[in-house]
Amino acid sequence: MRYQRPKGTADILPKEAKQWSAVESRAREVFEKYRYQEMRTPMFESFDVFSRTSGETSDIVTKEMYDFYDKGDRHITLRPEGTAGIVRAYVENKLYGPEVQKPFKTFYMGPMFRYERPQSGRLRQFHQIGVEAFGADSPALDVEVISLAMALLNSVGLHSLKLSLNTLGDNESRQNYRQALIDFLEPHEAELSKDSKERLHKNPLRVLDSKDANDQKIVAEAPSILDYLTSDATKHFTLVKQYLDALEIPYEIDSNMVRGLDYYNHTIFEVMSDSKAFGGKWTTVCAGGRYNGLVEQLGGPETPGVGFGLGVERLLLILDAEDIELSEQQDLDVYVVGIGEKADIESLKIVQALRQQGFSAERDYLNKKPKGQFKAANKANANYTLTIGQEELDQQKVNLKDMRTSQQESVGLSQIYTDFAQAKSVLDEKEN
Ligand code: ATP
Ligand code: MG
Repeated sequence: MRYQRPKGTADILPKEAKQWSAVESRAREVFEKYRYQEMRTPMFESFDVFSRTSGETSDIVTKEMYDFYDKGDRHITLRPEGTAGIVRAYVENKLYGPEVQKPFKTFYMGPMFRYERPQSGRLRQFHQIGVEAFGADSPALDVEVISLAMALLNSVGLHSLKLSLNTLGDNESRQNYRQALIDFLEPHEAELSKDSKERLHKNPLRVLDSKDANDQKIVAEAPSILDYLTSDATKHFTLVKQYLDALEIPYEIDSNMVRGLDYYNHTIFEVMSDSKAFGGKWTTVCAGGRYNGLVEQLGGPETPGVGFGLGVERLLLILDAEDIELSEQQDLDVYVVGIGEKADIESLKIVQALRQQGFSAERDYLNKKPKGQFKAANKANANYTLTIGQEELDQQKVNLKDMRTSQQESVGLSQIYTDFAQAKSVLDEKEN
């Protein structure tokens, strides 16, 4: 019997994990500057949290939910995205209350689950880094969120990205557009894919998001939402564009863009890459927008919101394709070479003491001969070795060697325990 990881999941091995944590720490630095604070919500929620918000015709709800009934017969789902859970927590913990500063700005990072057909950049367990900002309607906040997305991507060394921008307007704009879209699509009904046929009357905007090539050909000619905006919606969008111009953030308007989730209105955006990681095909790395109304949908007071979610796996695919290595391999400070049985306990104590003094330290656990231990020290890129055998023990001394210069020095054991930095400085001075 050979065990394999579930389809659509990945093992993140140490070398990759370093890159992951470098991405996460860069993100944290950027969030700090923009004043977004972390929230951690459960990885599973009531099924309703997502079915009520993502939209009953969305891919997520119709095909991709990892849902099950637990032993208490509760309908549970592994979260397919971050926003609904954050909104649920925002409402449940009354973060809209008067004592909480507005806008309330938060970020999250962690795994999401969707039952998808796995392929490069598309997994069943994947990871998102996302932000949400609640309690302000200002288009300046939309632009802050967009600029934050760009800053995050820039901070990991990505610059040649495309920002696609659109608006879905307010409810009234959408109602008007919805009808125009139905009128346009009805004559093409027979040619549409099965999914799109179903969505035509239930949620025609979804048809614009179809991944079917023939559907895409048809909707290329569809009317534009931009012609159906109310004056309020136009004003909001105009300001967003002006503010982006003011920040010199380039964008392209894509009036056919809708998002995979139904809760968006007003500004929506995607950050795309045509990296060779995706065979040069424009692929969305980060996507988001405004979702006024979502907080009410989950039982909270009327509260506007805006946010984005960024796919970490896709980001890492680009970094890999561009040969961007964010974290340097850290050298080992000291390898302790122990010779003979008596030195075993001393080595144990020395590595412990060195670590407590703030150095990285390693020793042998495989009963290797001194030669083998030096080999291991080399392999680990040790800057120093510290050798202790019976003779050294008798004299309460150790042999300290700088592996880069091969300079050596006999050092008192007590000094290693009290102040390794001082002990090694003697060797460093000898070099100069
Ligand atoms: P797509 O159209 O590619 O299916 P989506 O609209 O479902 O994307 P969102 O829900 O907006 O995607 O998620 C935001 C980002 O999360 C995506 O741009 C992508 O980078 C990432 N993402 C979404 N689904 C997956 C997945 N199954 N595997 C890996 N990353 C994903
Ligand atoms: Mg999807």
